[in-house]
Amino acid sequence: MQATTHNVLETQAMAAEFAATLHGGELILLIGDLGAGKTAFVQGLATALGVTARVTSPTFSIMNEYPADRGAIRRVVHLDLYRFTNENELRALALDDERRPDSVMLIEWPNVIAHDFTADVVIAIEHAGGDARTITITR
Ligand code: ADP
Ligand code: MG
Repeated sequence: MQATTHNVLETQAMAAEFAATLHGGELILLIGDLGAGKTAFVQGLATALGVTARVTSPTFSIMNEYPADRGAIRRVVHLDLYRFTNENELRALALDDERRPDSVMLIEWPNVIAHDFTADVVIAIEHAGGDARTITITR
């Protein structure tokens, strides 16, 4: 699935459409430059999954979790590995314990460390001139 969006609201609408295909237990990687719209996409997705809290970038907190409420999905876990430099930092998070059937996990900047995530979905967001973004969702 690929589309070009022209503002944040369109990106969040696409994220909401994608969110409707989730069942729980998914690991989703978000690839794209700084300011591409990875966090904006997660905001749209989280809202569609019933998250009412304000979703902010986990750049400094590394991992944020939010209660969700859509069918079996009870939790959204949002990570940003931008500041990571090695796999030991990842191990300290014990992500295997966080990856549960009742949770959707989203990771921004998975590619800064040489770890092979077994992801269900990869979302690539690319600048396409001005506010345009090309978003490619690969299952
Ligand atoms: P990232 O998490 O990829 O670093 P953010 O989601 O934090 O990026 O920021 C994206 C920025 O780009 C926001 O300031 C947002 O308003 C802006 N923006 C402009 N056009 C778009 C678009 N089509 N989709 C998403 N964000 C957009
Ligand atoms: Mg971000």
